[in-house]
Amino acid sequence: MSIDLKNLTIKKAQDGLKSGEFTSLDLVESYIKEIESKNKEINAYLEIFEDAREQAKFADEMIAKGESKTLTGIPLAIKDNLLFKGHRAGASSKILEGYVATYDAKVIEDLKKEGAVIIGRTNMDEFAMGSSTETSAYGVTKNPVNTETVAGGSSGGSAAAVAMDGALFSLGSDTGGSIRQPAGFCGIVGLEPTYGTISRSGLMAMGSSLDIIGPFTKTVEDSEIVFEALANEDVKDSTSILMKDRICQKIEASPNAEGGRVKKIGVPRSFLKGDGINKETLENFEKSLDKLRALGYEIVDIEIPLVEYSLAVYYVLMPAEVSTNLSRFDGIRFGLSVAGESVADSYKKTKEAGFGKEAKRRILLGTYVLSHGYYDAYYNKAVKLRHKITEEMNNVFENVDLIVTPTTPSPAFKPGAKSSPLEMYLSDVFTVPANITGVPAISIPAGFDSEGLPLDLQFMAPHFGEKLLFEVGKKFEVK
Ligand code: GLN
Repeated sequence: MSIDLKNLTIKKAQDGLKSGEFTSLDLVESYIKEIESKNKEINAYLEIFEDAREQAKFADEMIAKGESKTLTGIPLAIKDNLLFKGHRAGASSKILEGYVATYDAKVIEDLKKEGAVIIGRTNMDEFAMGSSTETSAYGVTKNPVNTETVAGGSSGGSAAAVAMDGALFSLGSDTGGSIRQPAGFCGIVGLEPTYGTISRSGLMAMGSSLDIIGPFTKTVEDSEIVFEALANEDVKDSTSILMKDRICQKIEASPNAEGGRVKKIGVPRSFLKGDGINKETLENFEKSLDKLRALGYEIVDIEIPLVEYSLAVYYVLMPAEVSTNLSRFDGIRFGLSVAGESVADSYKKTKEAGFGKEAKRRILLGTYVLSHGYYDAYYNKAVKLRHKITEEMNNVFENVDLIVTPTTPSPAFKPGAKSSPLEMYLSDVFTVPANITGVPAISIPAGFDSEGLPLDLQFMAPHFGEKLLFEVGKKFEVK
C-alpha cells in the first residue's frame, strides 16, 4: 500500500485511520520503509524499535473497538534521552552504551495511553549539549533538506526524522533551543512549551530549571494536537503545572488579546544587531514582518535591555546544573563501568572513557562556577540576572501579545564549520531567552535563503500563552 507520507499530517492521518483508508500498521510499515531507504545517509534514527509493529497492531485494535483517542495509531520518534521502559536509551553518549530504561517517562506513559506508536529513538548531541549533533557518540545527523549541512541540535535526529518523512511527529527536549533551532534548520515546526507544562519525569536531566519536552511537527495545527495531549500535570515532577486551567486564564488576562486574539507583536530591534547574524536571515526577517503586517498584526519595536545577557546567563547556569546532573553517571548505577584500583579511581576511569569532550568541558565549567570561591561571582550573579530578565520580559508582555525574532542567526551550516565552542554557543542567541524566563516559544518555517536552505521565525508568548503562538503560527504558515 502506498501512502503519500510527504503530504501527510497528524490531522490527515487521523482522518485516514478513522475512515479505514489505511491502518496504523500500514502507516508504520510505510514509515519503516522510508527510514530504511534514507537513514543510512541522514542518521536520524539510532534504532527502530522491535515492537513498533506490535504497538501498531494494538492501536488498530483500539480503533476497531471504537476506543480511538487523539494520537491512536500515529507513528512518532523519540529523542534518545527519553525513557521508554524495556528499550534502550543512551543520550547519544558512550557512558550509557547498552543501557535499557527501567521505567516510562511521563510523556511515554501518556503516549501509551493514547495508543500512539513509538517507532524508534533518534540521534542527538551527547546529553543534549550542542547545536549540530556533532557531539553525539554516533556521528552527525544530516539535514534532509540539504545533506551537506547539519540538521541542527541537540534534537537533530528528531527534527530530521520528521523532515525526511520518517515519522509523523517526534519529541525533543529544549534547554536552550534544542527543539527550535533544529526545527528551523530542517524547515519544520518546533515548539518549546512553557516550563513545567509537560512533565520532565523520565527525561534525562541536562539543566533541570531550563529543560522542557516538546514536539516537532510539519504544521502548527499538529504541534497544538501533540501539546494538548502531553501537557498533563504530574506528581513525579515537582515543577509540573496543570496547564489546562491556566491557558484561558492568561489569555483573558492579556490586555491586548480580546478573546485570545493577538493584535500587537513586538520586535526587540537592538537584540537583532548583534555580531554574527546572517544578512539573508535579517532580510528575510523583514519580509516576514511585512507578511505579519499584511495579516493585520500591529508590529512595534520594543526594548528588552538585559536580554542580550541571556546567553551569558545561560552558559553559567546550564553548566552548573549539568555538572550536578551528570554526576550520577559514575559507572556504578548506569551503563558503562570501567574497573579501577579503588571506587574513586573507577569513577574517574569511567567518566574519562564515557563522556565526550563537550560534556567534560561543561562539567568542568559548572564545577568551577559552583565552587566555594566563585559561587557568588558567577552562579549567584547569573541567578539574579535571570530574575531581572524575566521581570523585563513580563513587563514587555504587558504591552505586546507576542515577541518575534528569527529562530536562528543563520541557516544550517556544514559539519565542522564552527571551529570554537563559543561560535557554536552563538547559535542559541535568540532561543535561550525563552528558556531562562520559562516562556513558551515556537519556530515556524519562513521561506528559504538563496541556496535553498530553510529560514525561520520564532514567536515568544507570555507564560501559558501557547494558544497565542498557535493562533499566529497557523495564519503565518498558510499565507
Ligand atoms: N545548544 C544549546 C546547548 O548546547 C542548547 C541545548 C539544548 O537546548 N539542549 O546548550
